[in-house]
Amino acid sequence: MKIHAIQTGTVALTTSWREGVGHGRRRLLNTLVDREWTEPLPIYAFVIEHPEGVIVVDTGETARVAERGYFPRWSPFFRFAVREHVAAEEEIGPQLERLGIAPADVRWVVMTHLHTDHIGGLHHFPRNEILVSRTELAYARGLRGRLRGYVNKRWPAWFSPTLVDLAQVPFGPFPTSRALTAAGDVTLVPAPGHTPGQLAVVVDEGDHSVLLAGDSSYTEEAMLLGKVDGVGADENDEMLTHRRIRDYAATRPTVYLPAHDPESATRLGERRPVEVTPQRAVA
Ligand SMILES: [Zn+2]
Repeated sequence: MKIHAIQTGTVALTTSWREGVGHGRRRLLNTLVDREWTEPLPIYAFVIEHPEGVIVVDTGETARVAERGYFPRWSPFFRFAVREHVAAEEEIGPQLERLGIAPADVRWVVMTHLHTDHIGGLHHFPRNEILVSRTELAYARGLRGRLRGYVNKRWPAWFSPTLVDLAQVPFGPFPTSRALTAAGDVTLVPAPGHTPGQLAVVVDEGDHSVLLAGDSSYTEEAMLLGKVDGVGADENDEMLTHRRIRDYAATRPTVYLPAHDPESATRLGERRPVEVTPQRAVA
């Protein structure tokens, strides 16, 4: 199995967006008033070349973010707290083409969640099966979704994903799961917190696993330390997800790949697993 990290441009955030400051409503406000920025962070999507077909996990961002009015003007988050840069050739479509992967080769597109920088490349997959958790779609759609920061007016008109309900089948510390492949080596697990319906994807590569984490945390360190971001829907759920990932990584070598961690591609290339010290595992 081959796994590719595909960088579809960059996103810079206020520092208190990447690492939350304070709690509750104040934590959200802090992301807006913060004048300090992170360096441009990668926006990763991942591609698994699996014998049962290519699996795309997230679609990255679109170059259209440079158009005036692409993001809703009323949203203070897009005005004050996030800056994205994506060149046309950085979109996932052209990058798949360069890898020799045709759209028809893609068996599934799995969305970890529906934030703009994960769904922005969806227009490259009009004829593919898209998987989204039922909880995530319900949370992200309509006016309420827009108020929660989802840019759902930009979703393709044809967008009608297959809804995923996880089964009451534990997968290590994760209480529910769903095997995606018939071989049972690619599994969807719950990763709530950043959004309520977020999914993570665990790829079994024999003696280790690769965990495609979406925005479970922005960095590996934040997951290890249980530090929540500035905008996640539920701080406690986010920490619970961090703990489950640490517990999983304590029992099995796990390469942890968040979508915006500058180290993700290197860790994937080296198959460098998370180092969970016993102290951290019980924290
Ligand atoms: Zn997100």
